[in-house]
Amino acid sequence: AIEIADLHKHFGKNEVLKGIHMTVDPGQVVCVIGPSGSGKSTLLRCVNLLEVPTKGKVFVEGVELTDPDVDIDAVRRRIGMVFQQFNLFPHMTALQNVMIAQQRVLKRGKKEAEVVARENLDKVGVGAKCDAYPAQLSGGQQQRVAIARALAMNPDLMLFDEPTSALDPELVGDVLTVMRKLAEEGMTMLVVTHEMGFARQVADRVVFMDGGVIVEDGEPAQVIGDPQQERTRAFLHRVL
Ligand code: ATP
Ligand code: MG
Repeated sequence: AIEIADLHKHFGKNEVLKGIHMTVDPGQVVCVIGPSGSGKSTLLRCVNLLEVPTKGKVFVEGVELTDPDVDIDAVRRRIGMVFQQFNLFPHMTALQNVMIAQQRVLKRGKKEAEVVARENLDKVGVGAKCDAYPAQLSGGQQQRVAIARALAMNPDLMLFDEPTSALDPELVGDVLTVMRKLAEEGMTMLVVTHEMGFARQVADRVVFMDGGVIVEDGEPAQVIGDPQQERTRAFLHRVL
């Protein structure tokens, strides 16, 4: 679970998050939508402390990240993160990319790391590409390797920041299918996306952000299908 209470983030004088309250319950999928610059990535980055909040509290699985005494590495290990750019190591095969953090961070032995890596590459549909280097893979395949890499760490929850935005349109579906499967398995997911179809079909809740605040938060049929706020309507009008 994720609990965010009165989260503020400033970059210098620029207040990018202006008091965010949000929860993601265990097994829930929450999609965050909103215009460019509204603070979506900053919000996600505050949930795994890639950015340090200026004010407010963030809890992950009951642990307060904003507590100065928290073991940040231990908390981060429980959170899988998938970015728009896949960030695979170019000089390593798909298999090696999925093994490395297991070995370095979780101290798993090579054998075990390889078994777990193969399982997860199979799961996301790229099991046949274990020995390929990132440059030999399509964007959709690379992104699925990145998802397998995150899953191999047995995270309690997954954060996705526009995981399909860098992909050619015909490759988007494969990645969304993997994410849908994860959701059905009960993974807790916080997903920034422009894929309104995915948000409508898979999300338990959709959160619309604009200007560093949450403007609307509700079921997809509500927020996307019947938005109450003019700002939400204007945004959806542009993207749908
Ligand atoms: P997009 O849809 O384009 O990805 P976003 O909603 O994810 O946008 P953020 O990346 O969170 O938006 O950025 C929100 C604001 O914070 C922007 O004005 C951005 O310039 C600013 N910002 C983000 N990161 C930093 C940083 N490290 N230093 C200074 N300003 C930043
Ligand atoms: Mg962003």
